[in-house]
Amino acid sequence: MTEYQKKDLLYKGKAKEMFTTNDPDVIWVHYMDQVTAFNGKKKVQMSGKGQTNCKISSLIFQDLANHGITNHFIKQIDSNNMLVKRVKIIELETVVRNFASGSFEKKFACEHLMKFEKPVQEFWFKSDELNDPFINDSQAIALKVANEDQMNQMRAIALKVNDRLKEIFSEMNIDLVDFKVEFGIDSDNQLILADEISPDSCRLVDKTTRKSLDKDVFRKGLGELVPVYEEILKRLENVEEV
Ligand code: UDP
Repeated sequence: MTEYQKKDLLYKGKAKEMFTTNDPDVIWVHYMDQVTAFNGKKKVQMSGKGQTNCKISSLIFQDLANHGITNHFIKQIDSNNMLVKRVKIIELETVVRNFASGSFEKKFACEHLMKFEKPVQEFWFKSDELNDPFINDSQAIALKVANEDQMNQMRAIALKVNDRLKEIFSEMNIDLVDFKVEFGIDSDNQLILADEISPDSCRLVDKTTRKSLDKDVFRKGLGELVPVYEEILKRLENVEEV
């Protein structure tokens, strides 16, 4: 239980709803039993998806905080709900890639899961109308989406997140192919990690079977999604330090 009360709906996304609470600095996040892909064109209700992602995201955010990566997570309240610090989201998706997949593989017609010597970093402009176009630093700065210092901070934090996530997933016999994170500015004007980190926003491949254990199962129609996410949660709960 929590001392916080859920108030007004602030925002309804594709997988989460955000509500205000009795504390102006605290947001209530509800993880929905819904999965979407291709900018919302493919959308399905799936029982158990919300609670699995809520738990995975909570465990990961807590672990990152324990490893010095400040983020918006406060606590999980119940199966599908968590409290987070209110931030103003920077309208960029920050992507880190360790292996070629998804849009990178398509754009450069390279070998699927080609391993990179150094992580690749990309920014995408969050805009449903424009279909989230690729954006570089000077474009983001020109559009005042973020300033130069913030761009540098996002790059540096995203690489730290990558280092820790690679460690966690490696313990789970999983290769972290790529992932997306988002950042926000808190009430103290600090840039911090926000949004969620779950198999909705990461590509994960089993090191032994090379099977996808993430939203690609849904994107590519490879089978049932929720059991795959439950498998990720089970492995994550078995990682000792997480
Ligand atoms: N991603 C995401 N939300 C998006 C776009 C991408 O979480 O709106 C994640 C995606 O799950 C993958 C990584 O960012 O882990 C890189 O995605 P990519 O650019 O390959 O695009 P996609 O194939 O998802 O269109």
